[in-house]
This record gives sequence, C-alpha cells and structure tokens, in this order.
Amino acid sequence: MNITKDTVVTLSYTVSAGPGQPPESGQQAYLHGGYGNTFAKLEAALEGQAPGFATTLVLQPEDAFGVRDEGLVRTIPKSEFPPGVKVGGQLRGMTDDGREQVFNVVKIKGPQVLLDGNHPFAGKELRFTLKVLEVRAATPEEVTHGHAHGAHGHHH
Ligand code: ZN
Repeated sequence: MNITKDTVVTLSYTVSAGPGQPPESGQQAYLHGGYGNTFAKLEAALEGQAPGFATTLVLQPEDAFGVRDEGLVRTIPKSEFPPGVKVGGQLRGMTDDGREQVFNVVKIKGPQVLLDGNHPFAGKELRFTLKVLEVRAATPEEVTHGHAHGAHGHHH
C-alpha cells in the first residue's frame, strides 16, 4: 500500500543535529495527511511512497522544531530546586507571560542551574534518515482522533 491521506505510516528514523549532539533513533507510527502529527516537509517527502522506501531529508529549523527563543533561557538558584535535579532532566515552570512550559536542565554550575525551555532541536538544521516499514489504512476511529493508535502510535 502506498502512503496517501488517511494511511498510518510506521517509520524508523534517525534525527541528527550535527556534531556535539547524539543522534536520536526510534520508530514511530503516524497518521498521514496533514493532521500535524509530523512535519509537513517530511509528509511531502513520503507522499506516494511504499514500505521499503528510504530517504534522507535535511530540514531547516523553521520547518522542524522552530527557531530558538532566548527568552526561554533562565538561570535559577539550585536551592529553589527539588533535590536530585540533574542535567538532562526536565522541570515544569511558567514563562514570563504565564504559560506552562517544560524546561530542560542544561547545566549546573555551582549554586546556579541553567534552564532552557527550547526544544533541544530548536534552531538546528536537522538531518532525518527515514525508512518506511509499514503502511496501512487508518481506522475510522484514528481518522476521527487525528492520530494513529497501536504499536508506536498514540496511547490513551
Ligand atoms: Zn486516539
């Protein structure tokens, strides 16, 4: 079956942001067809393809995780944190305009903790290596929900 609107596509992927950041690999099943489950350029590259198709795609930040917002970087005293805070961990906080935001702990330097609310891939040119593993028709329920269910899909 070929990838078209309302098919569920299972992919294996590796995302690389260049030197200094380890690549991320995994498998994902997503509902294809402009539901916003993955990047539009990635969907465009896969449209019409079938299982076994493999490609490498380079996306600019604005086509992937967006540009960095330096307003989401902050330094907070370590004493304000729960014990056990570690680099690589995440904390929930508020932005200056009161929205809830997940911050990544990027550095602990003496009594100060550096937080960054940007996605680790924000502002990065990303290289996606993709392989289509499986393509199937979406169920009516998946189309109603706007996402894929089952293995590597959405869990309720
Ligand atoms: Zn659902």
